[in-house]
Amino acid sequence: MSVSTLASDRSVCTPLPVLGRDIRVPLVTGGEVTYAALDYAASAPALQRVWDDVAAYAPYYGSVHRGAGYLSQLSTELFENSRADVAAFLGCREGDQVVFTRSTTDSLNLLAAVLPAGTRVFVFETEHHAALLPWERRADVEVTYLDAPRTPGQAVETLEQALAAREPYGPALVCVTAASNVTGELWPVRELAAAAHAHGARIVVDAAQLVPHQQVDIEELDCDWIAFSGHKLYAPFGAGVLAGRADWLRDADPYLAGGGASRRVGRGASGEVEVDWHEGAARHEAGSPNVIGAYAIASACKALTEEGFDRLAERERQLISAVREGLAAVPGVRVLSLFGPEAPRVGVFSFTVDGWNSSHFAAALSAEYGIGVRDGLFCAHPLVRTLVGGASSADGGCGSDEGAPLNAIRVSFGAGTPDEH
Ligand code: PLP
Repeated sequence: MSVSTLASDRSVCTPLPVLGRDIRVPLVTGGEVTYAALDYAASAPALQRVWDDVAAYAPYYGSVHRGAGYLSQLSTELFENSRADVAAFLGCREGDQVVFTRSTTDSLNLLAAVLPAGTRVFVFETEHHAALLPWERRADVEVTYLDAPRTPGQAVETLEQALAAREPYGPALVCVTAASNVTGELWPVRELAAAAHAHGARIVVDAAQLVPHQQVDIEELDCDWIAFSGHKLYAPFGAGVLAGRADWLRDADPYLAGGGASRRVGRGASGEVEVDWHEGAARHEAGSPNVIGAYAIASACKALTEEGFDRLAERERQLISAVREGLAAVPGVRVLSLFGPEAPRVGVFSFTVDGWNSSHFAAALSAEYGIGVRDGLFCAHPLVRTLVGGASSADGGCGSDEGAPLNAIRVSFGAGTPDEH
């Protein structure tokens, strides 16, 4: 059965309208074609619905938490309602906090900044750099890097052994991705959370690549924090989320010092400045917030919930099978995988093509066919090096001129991807 036949089945949804789906692009061979956006994992096109919601609100905005006028009140209400919508979307628990950030990278750096002194951090070397690098910036935390597992079970075993070997410890944090931006493979988050908690550690889940594809429920996954970016969730750039336990966020110094984070500022007896910081999310949202970004994320959350993740996921399963079969039919294509070709995944595939430099291959797809993909090391250098094997170019861009596949090519898709490209 073809993807289009399945897509016309009423139990499987049609692609959601997104911006830019009708863009025509010129080809080097002459003529033009409709652009095929196959780089959703980097940034997904915004949903038309999100764009419309933002456009309806944008002309009327005012300052948030800072004005008495009608528009300030309206903006404050929209901003706080957006927080509540995101909390509902993630299934947040009583007492959880939703902090608006700039992105997943910003969310994980925020969490790194609020770790109690002496925290032990455990992270797989396979992580995106946003999840791999923030912890080392804290001189007073100790980071343990875990080797790449080759099965989901091995991931849990590796973590358990590492946690057990380091005991006893005070505060500890495991950071793990839910879905890989390189292989698209799903990680056993529930099991990793159970292992972390059994050893008294907490867990933060980098859900940047999962939230656009599956319903994520923080309570059901039993994770302590979730981080994601709006621009991968069919909203525009510039806003992200860190959601989860409030205590470490409340007990730490504000991420940024400034207005909005401070409740009262005065001068002490010897002339020093004394600050009483807010305790809630505002503590880490100093400065005028990105209210449009927050509103756009909330709009995307509602649009996806209304559409229904079951239907979106069913359609994506068909696209995944079509891409899997299509890639298998091309001679010399090697799909990168940690957990094996049949492992559960989201719509992200990275591959190499024998005899092709990946950057040249991706450039040819764009110039000759109007297909937009990504090439390189995908901000996950250790993982791509492990999977591609051998040396890769350090900048994540061009490989050698000899035609060897040093880096990889990635195709990724989602709710706006049409049945045929
Ligand atoms: N984590 C994963 C798994 C990602 O794929 C990405 C972006 O590609 C990030 C984190 C970082 O997201 P952002 O660039 O929006 O901060």
